[in-house]
Amino acid sequence: MKEAAKKVWEECLDFIKDNIDEGPFNVWFAPIEPVSLEDNILKIKVPSQYFLEWLEENYISLLRLAMRRTLGEHSRLFYIIDSPIQKQPLPSTNRPELAKQSLALPELKDPQLKNPFVIPGIREITVDSQLNLHQNFDNFVEGESNRFARSAGISVANKPGGTAFNPLFIFGGVGLGKTHLAHAIGVDIKEKFPKKKVLYVSSEKFTQQFSNASKDKEKNALNDFIHFYQLMDVLIVDDIQFLSGKVRTQDAFFHIFNHLHQNNKQVILTSDKAPVDLFDIEQRLLSRFKWGLSAEIKAPDYQTRYKILQNKFLNDGTPINEDIVAYLAENIRTNIRELEGVSNSLIAQAAFNRKEYSIELAQSIIEKSVKNHQSILTIDHIQRIITDYFNLALEELHSKTRKRNVVQARQLAMYFAKKYTKNSLAVIGSQIGQRDHATVLHACKTVENLIITDREFKKYVSDLESKFSD
Ligand code: ADP
Ligand code: MG
Repeated sequence: MKEAAKKVWEECLDFIKDNIDEGPFNVWFAPIEPVSLEDNILKIKVPSQYFLEWLEENYISLLRLAMRRTLGEHSRLFYIIDSPIQKQPLPSTNRPELAKQSLALPELKDPQLKNPFVIPGIREITVDSQLNLHQNFDNFVEGESNRFARSAGISVANKPGGTAFNPLFIFGGVGLGKTHLAHAIGVDIKEKFPKKKVLYVSSEKFTQQFSNASKDKEKNALNDFIHFYQLMDVLIVDDIQFLSGKVRTQDAFFHIFNHLHQNNKQVILTSDKAPVDLFDIEQRLLSRFKWGLSAEIKAPDYQTRYKILQNKFLNDGTPINEDIVAYLAENIRTNIRELEGVSNSLIAQAAFNRKEYSIELAQSIIEKSVKNHQSILTIDHIQRIITDYFNLALEELHSKTRKRNVVQARQLAMYFAKKYTKNSLAVIGSQIGQRDHATVLHACKTVENLIITDREFKKYVSDLESKFSD
């Protein structure tokens, strides 16, 4: 049965291949798997609901023709959706019926696309790029730690979609300049190619919009959402690691990505980890992340820290002596955000107290604000910070209690341990109250979801973040 299905499907594919380009063929037909053939019904497996809808919408006549040629007038196609969220096969349908059910997609030029980033226009849609003009190449200091990523960014900005760096995947730790570089590339593209539709979006916002569109009762909301993104010439998605575990959002992003990539549109992604270290991101997305170029931004060396500080004081019009700059560059080694934080405090305090800038003042600010434990955060340390913060005993954190506050504190400990240490889920679970790796994974997802949905919870997370801040 399977053999027969394979043979028929191969014949169909031969026909289809002759009728469409190789790019779309590889994206939309190569992933389909023939399953069985019985009574002129060919069962095929498609990767997802979106995939199916897209296929139906764009290639229905071609498919129908291919089927008719190989199996005759009374042939039928039966889809099985192979998606981790929807394991059941779709009910048996014959093709014309399904075509009727499938969602009507709006014309690509529809100016009415519902998306918060759209500025209503007369004919063309105008997109608010959401770019921060203050984060550009002019004020992005070049150093050993970011040279490679920066120059890749410049290449991309000169020829968006026209280099092998697609997607450009920028990764590195907290506060090292990923977001700044991503904006700089977008700003530069907008300057060079004002007509190009460039959009910057954080993964958090993307997820939120996807979730709103899914809940929207209006029938085209989800298609509008996806199509809106597919209209971009340059799409920048910040902190892509945030999509971890969000299967449906990843699925939507997959289709947007394919469409853009296939049409030589530029995709720029940032992440706190290299593609290989991301967890709970679907394989097919991870493999696509590796198609282009991955560029790491590393922690800045002394020279770069010095230059960044010098630049900052210069831009603020604050004359400051070299010894103090050197002292700061020597003593704040963690990240650039911290470097900026301290220099801002220094400027503010000196102004407020009418003090001279001095090494003593710099020293006292550093002591108060920088935690120089230099990423040797351990699970123990994280648990201590969490128990202090929530005023719990360690035994309580480890206990079997289902009390909401304790459960949340435990989940936060697991989440931060995953985020800030290199331990496996199993090790984290065993150290935080003898739980298994699945519990830790669940905790990570729960925390990520609560960050979006629960304002109070989000506040805990950002308070705690500041205590960990590298
Ligand atoms: P990330 O996204 O990696 O967490 P950001 O891009 O938000 O980090 O950078 C943190 C801060 O440091 C921002 O204010 C940014 O402008 C500044 N910054 C980062 N890299 C540089 C650089 N090379 N030159 C100047 N400022 C930088
Ligand atoms: Mg960032």
